[in-house]
Amino acid sequence: MIRTDVLVIGAGPAGSTAAKHAALGGADVILVDKKSEIGAPKRCAEGVSMGGLESLGIKPNPQWITRKIEGVRLVSPNGTSVWLTSDRVELPEAGYILERKVFDKHMAMDAARAGSKIMIKTLARSLERKDDDGYVVNLETMGEEFQIKARIIIAADGPESRVARWAGLKTAAKPKDMESAAQFEMVGVEMEDNHCIEFYFGSVAPGGYAWIFPKGDDIANVGLGVLSTKTNKSAYEHLLEFVEDCPATKDAQPVELNIGGDPVGGMPKKLVTDGLMVVGDAAGQVNPLTGGGIISGMTGGMLAGKVAAEAIKDDDTSKGRLREYEKLSYDSIGKEIDKYLKVKDYMLSLSDKELDSIAEAFKDVEFEKISTTELVKKLVKVSPRALLKLGKLF
Ligand SMILES: Cc1cc2nc3c(=O)[nH]c(=O)nc-3n(C[C@H](O)[C@H](O)[C@H](O)COP(=O)(O)OP(=O)(O)OC[C@H]3O[C@@H](n4cnc5c(N)ncnc54)[C@H](O)[C@@H]3O)c2cc1C
Repeated sequence: MIRTDVLVIGAGPAGSTAAKHAALGGADVILVDKKSEIGAPKRCAEGVSMGGLESLGIKPNPQWITRKIEGVRLVSPNGTSVWLTSDRVELPEAGYILERKVFDKHMAMDAARAGSKIMIKTLARSLERKDDDGYVVNLETMGEEFQIKARIIIAADGPESRVARWAGLKTAAKPKDMESAAQFEMVGVEMEDNHCIEFYFGSVAPGGYAWIFPKGDDIANVGLGVLSTKTNKSAYEHLLEFVEDCPATKDAQPVELNIGGDPVGGMPKKLVTDGLMVVGDAAGQVNPLTGGGIISGMTGGMLAGKVAAEAIKDDDTSKGRLREYEKLSYDSIGKEIDKYLKVKDYMLSLSDKELDSIAEAFKDVEFEKISTTELVKKLVKVSPRALLKLGKLF
C-alpha cells in the first residue's frame, strides 16, 4: 500500500492548485486523475478575469492564453445590445480566454514542481475510514487495482463529484441547481467585436444564458446553460437553435462539442469532515450568475491545500482542525456567491419583454459618467421589482 499525507482526487484547476499549495506547505502529496490527458476534453468556455489569476499568484502565459478580452456585450431577446467597453465604462480588469487543455496541464505541472506526485489514468473507486487518522482509497490504473492510505483527502472531482459523498458529506447539487450546458467550439464566427465576450439573455436559454467567447479572429466557444426545471428541451437542442438563429454563428462550423453540468446553487453547508475537504465544482464553488468556477475553485483549492499542510504539521486531521478551510471559503468565496445568487434570482424573474426594456434603457448609457445612484434609479424605473429583489445589494 502506498502512503501519503495528502491525496488529491481530481487534477482540474481546483485539485492541481490544492496539490501545489499542500506540497509548498511541506506535505507529501499525491494528485490522481482518471483522465489520460489532464485538461482534455474541456468542458468550459475558458473565460477568466485577469484579477482572478493575479489573486492566485499566477502570471499570464501566452502558451495558455488564446485571447485578451477588452469588453462585454450583453444582448437582450430582441437583439438590443448593451456594450460594456472601456470607452463607456471603467473596466477594473480585463479578462482572458484560456486554452484549458494547456492551462490545466500547466497547473498540474506547477503542482509537480512544488513536489506533488502525479498519477494519471488513475480512477478513485471508493474509500474507507480505517482508523482515526486517514482513509484507505481503492484505485485503479490500466486495469490494475491498488490502494493509497492518506491522512487527508482533498476531493476535487468536479461537478459529478462522488468522493465527498463516500465520506458522508451532502454535497450533491439539487436538479434545480445543476445547469446543463452545451457548447461548440466553432470556426467562421462573425462577431461584431472579436475582443469582447457576448452574453444572450432570455428564453434563448431558460434558467441560464447563451455566450460567445472569442478564441481567435473567427474562432469562438459558443454555448449555453439551461436549468432542466425551466425547459423540456435539452441544452444541446437549445444550442442548435441558438447557433442557427444568431447572426454571428449562422454560417459557422463546429470543431468540438462539449456537454457538461455546472453546479450553480452555491456551496453546501459542510465542506469538511474528519480527514477530508472538498473543493472546486465538487464544493459548488461556482459563481451562480455566470457559471464561472475556474478562479473560485482554484481559490478553494489554494485554501484547502494550505490548511492541509498546516494540519499535517499540527498532527491534527480532525474535522475541527479542517474547519479552518470551511470558514476561509465562506468568508472569501461564499459571500460573493450569496450576492450573485440574489442577482441571479432577479434575472430569472424577468420576462423577455422586461429584459428588452432594460436593455433599451441602458443601451446608450455612458456608464463612466453616471453615478451608481443614478444607475439604480434608472433600473428601478424600468423594473420596479429590482428594488425588491436587489434592495439589500444597493
Ligand atoms: C460548458 C461550460 C462552460 C464553462 N465556462 C466557464 C468559463 O468560461 N469560466 C469559468 O471560470 N468556468 C466555466 N465553467 C466552469 C468550469 O469549467 C469549472 O468550474 C471548473 O472546471 C471546475 O474545476 P474543478 O477542478 O473543480 O473540476 P474539473 O475541472 O471538472 O476537474 C475535475 C477532475 O476530477 C477528475 N475526476 C473525477 N472523478 C474522479 C475519480 N473518481 N478519480 C480520479 N479523478 C476523477 C476528472 O477527470 C477531472 O479532471 C464552465 C462549465 C461548463 C460546463
